[in-house]
Amino acid sequence: MSPNSSVDYQSFRQEVRTFLAENLTEELREAGRFTAGLISPYEYGIKWQRILHAQGWAAPTWPKEYGGPGWDAPQRYIFAHECGLANAPSWSNMGVILCGPVIMAFGRDDQKKFYLPRMLTGEDFWAQGYSEPGAGSDLASLSMKAESDGDDYLLNGSKIWTTHARYANRMFCLVRTSNAGKKQEGITFLLLDMDTLGIRVEPLITIAGEQDFNQVFFDDVRVSKRNRIGEENGGWQVAKYLLEFERNNGSSVAGRIRATLENLKGVVKLEGVEADQFFQKALSEVEIELSSLEAMEEQQMVALVKGESPGASGSILSYKSTQLSQRITEIGIEAVGYYVSPEQKAARTPSSNIPAIGPDHALPIMPRYLGQRASSIAGGSDEIQKNIIAKSVLGL
Ligand SMILES: Cc1cc2nc3c(=O)[nH]c(=O)nc-3n(C[C@H](O)[C@H](O)[C@H](O)COP(=O)(O)OP(=O)(O)OC[C@H]3O[C@@H](n4cnc5c(N)ncnc54)[C@H](O)[C@@H]3O)c2cc1C
Repeated sequence: MSPNSSVDYQSFRQEVRTFLAENLTEELREAGRFTAGLISPYEYGIKWQRILHAQGWAAPTWPKEYGGPGWDAPQRYIFAHECGLANAPSWSNMGVILCGPVIMAFGRDDQKKFYLPRMLTGEDFWAQGYSEPGAGSDLASLSMKAESDGDDYLLNGSKIWTTHARYANRMFCLVRTSNAGKKQEGITFLLLDMDTLGIRVEPLITIAGEQDFNQVFFDDVRVSKRNRIGEENGGWQVAKYLLEFERNNGSSVAGRIRATLENLKGVVKLEGVEADQFFQKALSEVEIELSSLEAMEEQQMVALVKGESPGASGSILSYKSTQLSQRITEIGIEAVGYYVSPEQKAARTPSSNIPAIGPDHALPIMPRYLGQRASSIAGGSDEIQKNIIAKSVLGL
């Protein structure tokens, strides 16, 4: 597997490990380890982004031309895998990961010049405005209205489940500009400033007690047509490109799952139940499933390197990884027992000096269990992934 003979992947892996050992502070490792939901809290994520930016690694998928490291797929995979193993913050910067590549592919030169560098530095932080109260899995049903008014659009409606929207100063979103024809044909891709008059952000508290989510309300919000990406009513094509990019960017979840499995093994040991047959069986099953997930990730990467379409493998990986992540949190609950019950947000804040009720290792168990419920919904629910597998792989 050597698509680029000038890269020594062993040395590259070592370089990443050395960088992580030198730059991932204890606070950031704790933030990664204690992350309850799918994404680490903004304050730690953005710190990590700035450290990565200083190294030139803030945007693993970007080409050099735009300030990325210019890595190939195996390098991106190695980087993501090692970050996961090291418990780096689970950081999903939607500007860098999703909106940047869209601007590179569809944006005007002035848009590229203005937005892209600010994404890298963290000066601009972006929210993704796709889902609406009536449009999630069936995204094309979105109804947030953008009416043409001279050189502007007037936006009315709301977006929901908008991750980290209260920290974002910008949003990329899909809006409805026409109701004629098929529903996919009346959608437009827009960039907007979050401090525009008429935008209101309301937090939604998750079952794990985190404030990751928000609902964003738009009341006669005026956005210049110059902020459009691509053609009016051509937003579905842009959104599809973005989704393809999200699924096929050579990333890795197996490293992070392996780190959580290692944490779980530590918990099982500390609880003195490692010889118990239930835990031996449960951990062995996870180990086997995880090894097969790692092999599948590598296969997918080889396909990417060969320029082949990974097809439905993204859906299989997504489904398998959510199942595994959730299973690991369930075994944690079984191991720790009743000390998982107290809600202890203050004690599990990185660098906190608030003593824990019960053992320290019990602190992240329940928030993780609750937070991982989201993994089978985010980025396409398990049922949607199964639909894709049924159609594309099983031919049903
Ligand atoms: C952690 C997390 C972060 C998110 N961040 C963002 C964000 O930043 N920006 C954003 O725009 N959105 C975000 N979302 C929203 C996410 O994209 C939606 O939750 C997702 O697309 C599902 O949509 P929904 O919640 O409306 O559920 P629905 O689509 O209403 O689905 C409800 C249930 O019905 C099932 N279902 C629906 N259609 C089918 C079907 N055809 N066949 C079988 N079963 C079906 C689903 O699987 C689910 O169980 C986030 C979600 C999560 C969990």
